[in-house]
This record gives sequence, structure tokens and C-alpha cells, in this order.
Amino acid sequence: MKPLMHPFLINSPFDDPGLYIEIKWDRRALLFDLGDISSLNSSQLLKVTDVFVSHMHMDHFTGFDCLLRTVLNHDKLVRMYGPPGITDCVEGKLRGYTWNLTQDYLFTLQVAEVFPEIIKKTQFIASDGFRRPDSITSPFSGMVLEEEMFTVNCAHLDHKIPSLAFALKERFHININRDKLDRLNLSVGPWLRMFKQSLWEGAPDEQRFEAPGSEGRGHRIFSFGELKKEIATITEGQKVSYVVDAVYNRENEEKIIGLASDSDILYCEAAYLDKDRDLASERFHLTARQAGRLARKAMAKELVVFHFSPRYIDNPHELHGEAMQAFRAQY
Ligand SMILES: [Zn+2]
Ligand SMILES: [Zn+2]
Repeated sequence: MKPLMHPFLINSPFDDPGLYIEIKWDRRALLFDLGDISSLNSSQLLKVTDVFVSHMHMDHFTGFDCLLRTVLNHDKLVRMYGPPGITDCVEGKLRGYTWNLTQDYLFTLQVAEVFPEIIKKTQFIASDGFRRPDSITSPFSGMVLEEEMFTVNCAHLDHKIPSLAFALKERFHININRDKLDRLNLSVGPWLRMFKQSLWEGAPDEQRFEAPGSEGRGHRIFSFGELKKEIATITEGQKVSYVVDAVYNRENEEKIIGLASDSDILYCEAAYLDKDRDLASERFHLTARQAGRLARKAMAKELVVFHFSPRYIDNPHELHGEAMQAFRAQY
């Protein structure tokens, strides 16, 4: 099965947290957190369409300028999602520069400020000098982004300030059966892209679909429903969750387990060792053991821990070991 989403951590676990998820099918990428992103090259940054910011502590937001500098003179919309306060933080960043030469630029930044019950969207347009217009408010019930291929949900966690955790879920996964294609004498080619696109879009079964025969045998007409039955297998979509900076308490635990349940991969902060859990709790962070326990309770298939405190620079294996032991423990 070819995965749709290709996630990787941008930095080492001791550097700023951040997750880059490429969606190769769509030639685009999603970015989770905006700390130091200088290791991403410009072609990677130009693929970014949506940025999910957990909160605006510097290690999660200092890369704003780096991203803006790269995308600014492109005909592009970047959507950014973050907790209460993000619109003011973005505006503050934008007001730090002079915009008298951007009248012809085509870049727009849309900021979605996610409150527990509403989302406020504000468009900052380069050609307008990034002036702050009025926001548009809509109700929020857990989902921040809904597309044909995937959805992104989020939860407000307690980090002494609200910190957003995110879960990206592919709606369903499409596998094309090559043997069936061969049996029907159909060729592999760009038409399969259109076919998959129609599946994502939920095209009606009676729609006619032209499929090219192999070895130049001409085209054959199928109904979309017939083709779907013959060559496609639909399986459960991938799920990737991202949880950083949150204290371990009952409410956070419930929210994280609910959001990240059945993730294929859970990326979770593990700032401290459990022997330092009082410190972790004072600083509103998770320990490695807590991260492992959360991943186990959420029934995640894989756990990746990161965002380690520099105090463990000489023994990162202890953080890994502790998290994995709690993750794999039997009840
Ligand atoms: Zn942090
Ligand atoms: Zn923080």
C-alpha cells in the first residue's frame, strides 16, 4: 500500500519541534508548528499550503519570518491555524516590516484563530500591505480543515495557555489492483489519477469513464461504479497525530486519547524523564512515560517522541526507552 502522507520531523528531538507532512499526490505539504524551519529548503516551503501552530511560544513560532520570506513573492494562499491570540501574534510579526513595495504581490495569508467554540478567520493580503481587516467568525466543533482527501481535527490542551494538538486523517485509502488492470487489458497512466480524483470527490456510479487499453488497444467505456468495483480496493485511511507542550492531567489525557485514537503514528512530546515529573508538571510539559502511556491508551500503532529538554542531551536513549516501555506495557 502506497501511503498518501509522508511525515518527518524537521529537527532533532533536542531542537525546535515541527512536523512536515508531504502529500505527494497533491504536490503539497502541511506543516505542524513553525519553530526553526531553516533546514527545509525553498521547494519544500513552497509546497506548504497549511500551517498548524500549537501555540506561540518562540520554539513553535520563530520560523514565521522564514516561511513568509520564501512564499511572499509567489501567487499563493497559505492558511494558518492556531490557538486564541494567533491573529494578534501574526499581525505583530507583520507590523515589524515595511510593505510599501508589495502592491503587485499575489500572496495571501489566512489566519484561523481557533477558540473552543468558534473560529475567527482573518485574511492578510500582501498587495494591501497586510492590513488587518475584520475577521469572519464561524462555529467550531473540532474540525479545522475538511477536504476531499483528508480532515484535520484539533483539541485545546492545557499548557498554562491553550496549546493545540492536531490529528490528520485520510478519509479512506485507495489501492489500485494491478492484476485486475492487466486482466481487463487496461494501461497504467495518467487516467488513474483522474479516476482516483473522482473517487475522492465521490463521483456518481453511473458517470461514464473512459479507460485506455494496454498496448494501444484504444479506449473502453465503463461506468464509474463498475470500474470502482473492478480495480479499486478501499481501505482505512492513514492517521497522524501531533501532540506537544501540555501538562499531564485528567482533562488533557481524555482530550489527547480522544483526538489521537487509533493513530498510525502519534508524534508526542516527551520533554522530561518521569523521575523529573514534578518539574514537567511545573512547566506544563509531559514526561516520556506519560507520552508512552497516552499512546498506549490511544491505541496508536507507532509512537515517535521528541521535543526533549536539553538537560538530557547526553542520554536521549533514556527518554526513548522510558516512552517505549510505557507504550508497550501490558495492562
Ligand atoms: Zn515547546
Ligand atoms: Zn510551550
